[in-house]
Amino acid sequence: MASRALVLPAAGRFAFAVWLHALMIAALAFLAVEAALHGLYANAVLATGATLLAALSLARRAGVADRALALFIDQSAVESFDEWGPSAPGFEAAEAAMRRAAGALRTTRAERSARIDYLQALLDSVAAVLLAVEADGVAIPANRAAVRLMAQPAARLAEVGAIGGPAAARLLALRPGGREIVALADGRQMLATAVRFGAHGAPAERLVALQDVAVELDIVELKAWQDLARVLTHEIMNSLTPIASLAESLKAGLGDAEPAQTAEAIEVIARRSQGLMTFVERYRTATEAPEPRPQVFPLKRLVVGVEALMAADLKARGVTLDISIAPDDLTVAADPDLLDQAVINLVRNAAEACAGIADARVELVCRQADDQVLISVADNGAGLAETARTQLFVPFFTTKTGGSGIGLSVARQIALAHHGQLTATERQPHGAIFVLSLPAR
Ligand code: ADP
Repeated sequence: MASRALVLPAAGRFAFAVWLHALMIAALAFLAVEAALHGLYANAVLATGATLLAALSLARRAGVADRALALFIDQSAVESFDEWGPSAPGFEAAEAAMRRAAGALRTTRAERSARIDYLQALLDSVAAVLLAVEADGVAIPANRAAVRLMAQPAARLAEVGAIGGPAAARLLALRPGGREIVALADGRQMLATAVRFGAHGAPAERLVALQDVAVELDIVELKAWQDLARVLTHEIMNSLTPIASLAESLKAGLGDAEPAQTAEAIEVIARRSQGLMTFVERYRTATEAPEPRPQVFPLKRLVVGVEALMAADLKARGVTLDISIAPDDLTVAADPDLLDQAVINLVRNAAEACAGIADARVELVCRQADDQVLISVADNGAGLAETARTQLFVPFFTTKTGGSGIGLSVARQIALAHHGQLTATERQPHGAIFVLSLPAR
């Protein structure tokens, strides 16, 4: 409305000039005809010349108006008003109005672009991966997390390496409003949700959000283990304690007349029930979350300690330990004793996994990535057995003769108690990588 109100007076002035010219032309033409009819030929020639000049002036004004309007319309179409030249003579007022209209449009455009930048920054600040999925299955990244995951501007979901075929099929089958836990090709467990959206008149698309819920799942799983352990240990201990004490009393009251088999059987019952009680007690302690007492300390101190502690063991197994910290003075806010324990468990496992192979090597790397401190332990051993992968962190799961199956479960509990995470992946071409990530401060 504002630009319309601004243009009208200018347009009126231009119309007035046109009317004036038209009037002049009509009057001069009339004079030329009258002069010719009265035999005043010199006057007739002069009036005809003046008529032609007035007509030329009108044509020139119309030309200027035409060009300025064309330029304004062209520049409106591409929203660029940077090439306005100096005002054309006689058309200043209309041009000034157009400039004002162009200025108003430029302001609107700047406001709109600032609004788009704001909305994009808002989307980029969301940690979840946001993908606009078209009807034909082509996904377009909608925020920075999605760009990072897809590593290409647009592609079919199944062709995105980090997502993979099976996860893509499940995402495409996800109905608007639906939610599901989907495992991506890189092993991450994501909570996928979908909503329908569409610009007016455009075909409806789906916005798929993928949220990393590994930590939440780990916490829920750990909590389930702890609850189960609490109930089981309570029930088992309640039944075992009287059995063990009964067996002890029977053992004490055994007379010489009793057959040797009875004494042996009672001894077995006493020993086994005591053994089971010890096992249950260990289980309870292993599934109990440690309470961290965090402090800020340099990771260099941690790796120096781990190296010193593990040196003899590594040497005996013929394993080389490579250490790197970037930056050199990287610090972490954590309980140093608990973190020591977790890293020692990981290094020991890595050393055991690659012991005996040629050029056995364990790499302990500490680095910062975004808002996380990552401590990774990689080895070039046999890697993770397919069947073991889903149970690695289950308390007492072990594939080793003489293994306890507690190391990884404790290490993961330590990570979770620090609001961090412990993940395991295959290492190419051989081996495994365990990454303990902790929030940086
Ligand atoms: P344990 O070492 O006593 O078996 P853990 O909880 O530390 O108990 O480990 C559980 C299982 O996880 C191991 O028995 C092994 O199968 C697997 N594992 C752990 N670390 C590695 C590794 N670096 N490479 C391959 N497998 C591993």
